[in-house]
Amino acid sequence: MSGIHKYSRELEVATLAVKRASVLTKQLSDSISQARLGTLTKEDSSPVTIGDFASQAIINHALYVNFPHDEIVGEEDSRDLKENGKLAKQVFELIEKAQLETSDYDNAIGHLKDLESVLESIDLGNSKGGSKGRFWALDPIDGTKGFLRGDQFAVCLALVEDGKVVLGVIGCPNLPKHIESNTKHFGPVGGLYSSIKNIGSFYSPLFTPGFESLEKQEKIEMTQRDSPDELKVVEGVEKGHSSHSTQANIKAKIGFNPQTVVEQTINLDSQVKYCVLASGQADIYLRLPINNTYREKIWDHAAGNILVSEAGGKVGDVYGEPLDFGKGRQLPSIGVIAGNNKVFDKVVSAIKSVCEY
Ligand code: AMP
Ligand code: MG
Repeated sequence: MSGIHKYSRELEVATLAVKRASVLTKQLSDSISQARLGTLTKEDSSPVTIGDFASQAIINHALYVNFPHDEIVGEEDSRDLKENGKLAKQVFELIEKAQLETSDYDNAIGHLKDLESVLESIDLGNSKGGSKGRFWALDPIDGTKGFLRGDQFAVCLALVEDGKVVLGVIGCPNLPKHIESNTKHFGPVGGLYSSIKNIGSFYSPLFTPGFESLEKQEKIEMTQRDSPDELKVVEGVEKGHSSHSTQANIKAKIGFNPQTVVEQTINLDSQVKYCVLASGQADIYLRLPINNTYREKIWDHAAGNILVSEAGGKVGDVYGEPLDFGKGRQLPSIGVIAGNNKVFDKVVSAIKSVCEY
């Protein structure tokens, strides 16, 4: 039964924290669109910088008040914020606003009272990770490039135990429920994707108040398709984050029709790619490196990894080997691929024959 399970409390806390941070980052994201209409002044600090700090402070604080002994591997530290009073003031104001709008959550996830506690909370994210015990991995705004374009981004939180991801929660403030192609999106905007080891992966609307047990959420599952005519591939938008040309070669090797491959490819920023995959709207995720020296960060993949594996899919590196979240703040491996169980090995073979790693 999914109502009461080993991670019930962790899931509730993670969900409320991600929801509060999603309310905040969604407002910032919308303000970017307004900025295009001229309502933000040049003097305002970058919304993404403010959002990163505020989101990390909210989530770290929620974890600290509930699980004071847990370490956190978070992307940000407070150095820049300490040196910039104006930025710090903006961050605190936004946190206060989001806390007020979600004041029902205070009992469960606490309340940041002053700037000092904001700075302290941000710096709780300094864990080195590792293969023993448990820690949280947090990306307060994943997909900052997408965020700045007013496109996709995600608030991503995962719990790692002895090097294995056991829980993942991803808030996707700008993601429509249905994604068919780069141009065809529909359904309610704002999705919450949650996953617990040995229980499964679930969708629920992001902007509804409070926590709903997994039984009341929609169970999601990967596809079982493997015919190239039917397959869809999710890839990043940024050409600096993955090699689109290598990915094109791999798709050709798998047997995609050159006439339709563009329509079968969906470009999305951040871990929303894993969400679209896990909810059966795509079959393959390709993230082939642009060079052999970049190492992926664990907060960029931990929550997405369990979401896909609990939805019945596979995630691996360029050789198809599972990702190792117990080796510190970075993954030791090269690249990331994911796919449904039927197609995963075909992707690995295609990589083997068109790439040299
Ligand atoms: P995406 O939205 O899929 O392009 O991924 C966003 C993430 O890419 C960011 O959170 C960065 O940590 C990460 N990133 C930055 N530089 C690179 C790189 N050279 N290769 C792969 N990922 C990168
Ligand atoms: Mg990221």
